Amino acid sequence: MAYQIGDSCVACGACEGGCPVGAISMGDGKFEIDADSCIDCGACAGTCPTGAIAQA
Ligand code: SF4
Repeated sequence: MAYQIGDSCVACGACEGGCPVGAISMGDGKFEIDADSCIDCGACAGTCPTGAIAQA
């Protein structure tokens, strides 16, 4: 299962550069992970200052 960004996202962008496949982009008020591109590596989860990223 892909990782997902939850409602505690403050749209800081800290995670975006941490994704090796570029699956993270700005969405509607928060960042989003493209589930089809995500390879489930977990690299982004540690970059989020609010802990908003978790495995779905
Ligand atoms: Fe990108 Fe890995 Fe996070 Fe998926 S789990 S969005 S591939 S950094």
